[in-house]
Amino acid sequence: MTGEIAHADRAHALLSASASSRWLTCTPSARLEDQFEETTSFFAEEGTLAHEIAELKLRKHFTEPMAKATFTRRLNKLKKKTYNDELLFQKEMLKHTDTYLDYVKGIAIGLSTEPYVAIEKRIDYSSFAPEGFGTVDCLLIAGETLYVTDFKYGKGVPVSAEDNSQMKLYALGAYLEYSFLYPIKNVHLAIIQPRLDNESEFTLTIEELLAWGESIKPKADKAFKGEGEFVPGEHCKFCKAKAKCRARADQFTALEDFKQMKPPLISDEEVGGILEKGQHIESWVKALKDYALKESLKGKEIPGWKAVEGRGSRVYKNQDAAFDELQNRGIDEAVLYERVPLTVPKLEKELGKKQFRDYMEEPGHVLKSAGKPTLAPASDKRKAITNEVDAAEDFN
Ligand code: SF4
Repeated sequence: MTGEIAHADRAHALLSASASSRWLTCTPSARLEDQFEETTSFFAEEGTLAHEIAELKLRKHFTEPMAKATFTRRLNKLKKKTYNDELLFQKEMLKHTDTYLDYVKGIAIGLSTEPYVAIEKRIDYSSFAPEGFGTVDCLLIAGETLYVTDFKYGKGVPVSAEDNSQMKLYALGAYLEYSFLYPIKNVHLAIIQPRLDNESEFTLTIEELLAWGESIKPKADKAFKGEGEFVPGEHCKFCKAKAKCRARADQFTALEDFKQMKPPLISDEEVGGILEKGQHIESWVKALKDYALKESLKGKEIPGWKAVEGRGSRVYKNQDAAFDELQNRGIDEAVLYERVPLTVPKLEKELGKKQFRDYMEEPGHVLKSAGKPTLAPASDKRKAITNEVDAAEDFN
């Protein structure tokens, strides 16, 4: 493939910071992904809306003081956004965006000088990765420190700021833009993911950041040209090519390693090896199904498969009117509604952490049971457990 740019006016850089963990590992992935159209989903649009609300709050506080009425009008406009006619706004967005705002306010309050603040700032890191640019949620510069903070609304997996390539690319871009004006010597990276209670921070010196920037240049050049080896792994999860990528398919279907198995029973080493190879099969098969359904609905034939109508569900046309009618006909209200106690996590969400601790945990109303044993890769941070009784317990 050539290094030409497919879409000079693309909204996202080919070597985007958010996909950097992917193209730094699987260098041809960026060009391969470029063949797929941008898609969106309810969750992606929900995340965008949460960012817009967060941006409005940060601007109001730091850079664009506004009357309460103006803020409310702008917020109300955002609240009306929909995706496929479904409202995207939920009340919890206000709480979660406040968590992010409070975090940034906390940094600013702890500083001895008033910081420079930039919100939703477009930065350019093309000196390190060809044509690389992106948008940083929040930048603060005070004294000799550059603070880069990223708000993540997802609640899939907690994202760590430690050595995070996306954050480091943002920091490189910010450094290039501001180092003429500010004597930046240290960099503070933070990811705020309120729906997972995740606040992850990482600091490094500007020398360390620049050395990292230099170290990725050869890979970034390869990635821009679409060169190098396809390397499947955890990072395939958000790759646009995840369903059709041959390297990924080969990873799951090539069983050469196991052809030497001698029946009738496989060894524990082979069990470990197969589990290792197969741990992402489920999400790969799901990606294949999503792709095949989408193509079938477009009228394309995927041999052996077709799109059909799923099982519909029955819903009330107007629940209030329906229930009024039932009650008018003598059906007791108790028949119509279930009283279900809130689960512990839901109750904690309702009460808030402090009240939950005071009313529930401290008086001893909440028991924590051990989780059900589950299989995890050896790299998992949790301690390994067994059912074996150790010598000390046995003696007792
Ligand atoms: S699916 Fe995985 S292996 Fe294939 S291009 Fe994407 S990141 Fe690389």
